[in-house]
Amino acid sequence: MRIGRELVKEIVAHSREEAPNECCGMIAGRDGEATRVHRARNEFESPLRYSVHPQDLFRITTEIEEGGEELAAIYHSHTGSPAYPSQTDINLAENWPDPLYVICSVADPDAPELRAFAIRDSEVSEVELDVG
Ligand SMILES: [Zn+2]
Repeated sequence: MRIGRELVKEIVAHSREEAPNECCGMIAGRDGEATRVHRARNEFESPLRYSVHPQDLFRITTEIEEGGEELAAIYHSHTGSPAYPSQTDINLAENWPDPLYVICSVADPDAPELRAFAIRDSEVSEVELDVG
């Protein structure tokens, strides 16, 4: 997935603001390119897990559809672990296999790490992020 530097900055900023809790949100896209970052509330307000707040989920998916875009990815942060899906993340993705999952780790605040994964049938495969 191609993603602009400004959008990456936005995700990192959101991750830092919410720490130590995990942040989450949705990335709109078109033709394999991320176009916009939509912040959402983490329903759990937790440092260990996330769920896109149902009100935000509805509002954002409507906005994305009305804009003629697609849901490219769901993002969330890890504040104390690397940018790799936890078992909780894998279980959550079972209900929603289509979007990619972007994880931003701010475990080392000076070196944020952003990675993207496809999670289908409990299989995790990394997807290259083309930042530019
Ligand atoms: Zn996670």
